[in-house]
Amino acid sequence: MANDILSAATLADPRWAAVIGRDREADGQFVYAVRTTGIYCRPGCPSRPPKPENVTFYATPEAAAAAGFRPCQRCRPDTASLAVRQQAIISDLCRYIEQAEQPPTLAQLATRAGLSPHHLHRLFKASTGLTPHAYASAIRAGRLRQNLAQAANVTTAIFAAGYNSGSRGYAESDALLGMTPGAYRAGGARQEIRFASGACTLGYVLVARSERGLCAILLGDKPTALADDLEQRFPAAQLIADDGELAQQLAEVVRFVDAPKTGLDLPLDIRGTAFQQRVWQALRAIPPGQTASYSEIAERLGAPKAVRAVAGACAANALAVAIPCHRVVRSDGALSGYRWGIERKRALLAREAEE
Ligand SMILES: [Zn+2]
Repeated sequence: MANDILSAATLADPRWAAVIGRDREADGQFVYAVRTTGIYCRPGCPSRPPKPENVTFYATPEAAAAAGFRPCQRCRPDTASLAVRQQAIISDLCRYIEQAEQPPTLAQLATRAGLSPHHLHRLFKASTGLTPHAYASAIRAGRLRQNLAQAANVTTAIFAAGYNSGSRGYAESDALLGMTPGAYRAGGARQEIRFASGACTLGYVLVARSERGLCAILLGDKPTALADDLEQRFPAAQLIADDGELAQQLAEVVRFVDAPKTGLDLPLDIRGTAFQQRVWQALRAIPPGQTASYSEIAERLGAPKAVRAVAGACAANALAVAIPCHRVVRSDGALSGYRWGIERKRALLAREAEE
């Protein structure tokens, strides 16, 4: 019978599973229309699923409307989905913050978005991983970084970046640049980073130290490749191959990489954006022998949607093992990637799992 054929076609369509499961993740990917009612819906529509023989799939709401179907009153498939609308609001606010000379207040942002300040704050953080305030700070610090290269002096650069006071500019940028604005302007160029490499059970390890502490621990197969990696991470610094001064610290790091549970008692110079710093802090809170997924970390940061940003921060980590990005795995437990090679990740986790 014709109905059986129609039904079979629908049942065989992978989109049918999304309709039956009321999969809201599939919203925006297609709509389905129901012949008997003349109505089309989002996959996530809460109304009762139709009989498969009455269903036709359309790629867009426009296509369903062109075929003569009317939009469902419950799921409103003709309007952008809530998630899409919220994302549009947040990106608008991000552009607005980026273009403002002074960071806008939460009230100003809320008015612009047409949301309550509380709701906006929550939405912004869930989407970007940062509060609007932290986002504005990061933008301003980035501007300062640019200005420092061009402005006549440090103070001019700080005010031109939108800081109301010089001391504020100094304090905030210090955390981001890893040095004072003055030192950065001097080129960061003259900032000395000493490095040394040695063999460990995972191949080679390179240890680099600024005047503040260890700024890189890199793992690899060849010392030369590690030195190249270091240069890419600190292009402005003056890299000095160590002639023995670092021997003790190198030995400590080698011992630590071979037995991460023993801990590393050396000061670290951790450089990154405000969000990266928060991710790395969360990673350091995962005890040896345990793992967490990218989405768990995102949730712990109060930014459940920032999973990709979390993965990005893990990939940007310059301090192997000390910031244990190897303890982050996929939600299904699979190892996923590791900046220093999946085999090293496997070895580290196996080592930490041993009692
Ligand atoms: Zn509907």
